[in-house]
Amino acid sequence: MRHEGRGGRSGRVGRRGERELVRVVAVANQKGGVGKTTTAINVAASLAQGGERVLLVDMDPQGNATSGLGVEHQHVEAGIYGVLLEGTPLARACRQTAVPGLTLVPAGADLAGAEIELAAFEGREGLLRQALAAEAPRYGLVLIDCPPSLGLLTVNALVAAEAVLIPIQCEYYALEGVSQLLSAVQRVRRGFNADLGILGVVLTMLDARTNLSWQVAEEVKRAFRGKVFRSAVPRNIRLSEAPSHGLPIGLYDGRSRGAEVYADVAKEVLVRARSAEATRSRA
Ligand code: ADP
Ligand code: MG
Repeated sequence: MRHEGRGGRSGRVGRRGERELVRVVAVANQKGGVGKTTTAINVAASLAQGGERVLLVDMDPQGNATSGLGVEHQHVEAGIYGVLLEGTPLARACRQTAVPGLTLVPAGADLAGAEIELAAFEGREGLLRQALAAEAPRYGLVLIDCPPSLGLLTVNALVAAEAVLIPIQCEYYALEGVSQLLSAVQRVRRGFNADLGILGVVLTMLDARTNLSWQVAEEVKRAFRGKVFRSAVPRNIRLSEAPSHGLPIGLYDGRSRGAEVYADVAKEVLVRARSAEATRSRA
């Protein structure tokens, strides 16, 4: 496993080809409504449709990734709460979704209390990492959908992950708060996970007709340079409809613009995850 090495980046690059470089990716941004869940669901589903084995872990008490994949958030019996706080083996919380190859660890309503309960736990930051250790190698990619905060649930995701994927919405104040996220990444590197990389930044809800969207996109590119994904996600009504049908965009409307773009984003995720270059430099 990658975490063994204390050598940091060079260890990862030197072993190129021996194994996947990044397998566990946290989709994080403490701002709500920027497209984390939409990105997590649709990247996961698109890769699974392309033949990868993908695990999606819902770490948000709102359970949007769970309901967005057709699992009733209110009626989850074995979910991520039990895994983190009751020692339920991760495999017991895994369930298949409508997408062959896509496995979900759902979030139930009980996760709402986890943030506070976790605070009293020994080794509270590393619980997800520990739970994933045995299961992650069975998948080509593990995506963790984070809640809109920088609390212990997100910290658990950052400690468990090998790289972070940051969706940024193309709106006013887009970069506000991103520096806090990057500080959190730094703290996690110092304290728990020295090798945590930045997989990249995905621009979301781009409105190609407005100058503001393009200005924001330029600003984000100046701040993150090569870290910004080539495909930006436009506003697409089909993407916002799909979750209420419990389906990823590829199954809800595979011919929509949203489906096309997320297929491209998913490919880029895989390329970046498998190339040393993409994760080595740190934004
Ligand atoms: P987050 O997980 O960061 O809170 P979501 O992915 O849930 O954000 O997105 C917030 C809202 O915006 C949801 O209602 C979602 O359906 C909608 N949405 C996300 N991306 C798009 C898009 N590209 N086009 C249109 N609606 C979108
Ligand atoms: Mg969400």
